[in-house]
Amino acid sequence: MSDYIRRHLGARLLLSYLAIVLVGAIVLVITSQSVLPTSFNRHMQGLGPGFGMDQMMGAGRQAQGGPGMTAQLYGDFRASFNEALSYAVLAAVVVAFVLSLVLSRSIISPLRRLSAASQRIAEGRYDERVQVNGSDELAHLAARFNQMAEKLEQVESMRRQLIGDVSHELRTPLTAIKGSMEGLIDGVLPADAATFEQIHAEADRLNRLVDDLQELSRVEAGATPLDLKPVDIAAVLQTVGKRLGNRFETRHITLHLEPVTGLPRVLADEDRTVQVLTNLAGNALQYTQEGGSVWITAERGKDGVQVSVRDTGIGIPPEHLAHIFDRFYRVDKSRSRQAGGGSGIGLTIARALVEAQGGRMWVASEGQGHGSTFIFTLPVAK
Ligand code: ADP
Repeated sequence: MSDYIRRHLGARLLLSYLAIVLVGAIVLVITSQSVLPTSFNRHMQGLGPGFGMDQMMGAGRQAQGGPGMTAQLYGDFRASFNEALSYAVLAAVVVAFVLSLVLSRSIISPLRRLSAASQRIAEGRYDERVQVNGSDELAHLAARFNQMAEKLEQVESMRRQLIGDVSHELRTPLTAIKGSMEGLIDGVLPADAATFEQIHAEADRLNRLVDDLQELSRVEAGATPLDLKPVDIAAVLQTVGKRLGNRFETRHITLHLEPVTGLPRVLADEDRTVQVLTNLAGNALQYTQEGGSVWITAERGKDGVQVSVRDTGIGIPPEHLAHIFDRFYRVDKSRSRQAGGGSGIGLTIARALVEAQGGRMWVASEGQGHGSTFIFTLPVAK
């Protein structure tokens, strides 16, 4: 029995309610019994001389009622009072018991529902939700529980999606390598430099994919160490310009590095900022035709310093804009693959890095053939 009570909150609640009722009843009985004689005496004295406890006790002068009658009256009154009191206590205990039962159930049943729902979530049914009624602490707990379940469901679906995407991305270069090797074995493909280069390029793609995935998982887990300090954004622009200058020249694309003056320093990790900007400028270079132009500028925005990379390239159709930062998202999968493009993780990493430094990143494009502008912000150093 005591084990049952220890393991059931409902039973403990019911018992505690009943204990309160019991204590109340005891106090009621003791108080009424101790107050009764004095109160009776006071009321009897109000009837006139000769009524009251003095007469009841046989002391003092004789009066109308006499001591016997007063004692008789007191005895009868006490008996009827006690009778009424016992019925009242009994009725109160019964009503209190029923109410306690209802009250403890009303607390226990949402807890039971929560417990059952968490059990089902633990079994992998992430679509489980509990119904929320009212606005008390239990309703808040249920609402928080539902939020947690929703988040778990999202994480689970992202995990599934990620596994699907990664296997798909790995399969493509692996199939190409396997096909080339079979061609070599069967003698269908010539064992020359071109074939080996092709195999090497696919292996290289695999390598980059694995590197990107590693980087992405580190950034998303917040495990990338950031060396945040005041950084001169003009110097970052210069570094990226120097790093990519040759590639722009080779492709006959003009890189306009707008002069940046009078900007406050940003609080950022310099190497990571260079990495982000190199990625954006590299994309601009990749998705712009020969003879095109790319502008890199920095200006004071309302939430820090705003760096933008604008190109006259192929642009991004409006329906793709919302997904461009999703992992593995490529507007034209076959095109970026032929053009030596990556796996569609570059922008995901870039945005995660900017957000880890307290900034934001977004894209704007007038549509296909009208170029694109990638913008990111970094907070001003105090
Ligand atoms: P990838 O390594 O494939 O370039 P990213 O994450 O860097 O991956 O870019 C994702 C996709 O966004 C690209 O495949 C391309 O379709 C589109 N994209 C990125 N930058 C540009 C740009 N400057 N102009 C047009 N499309 C772009």
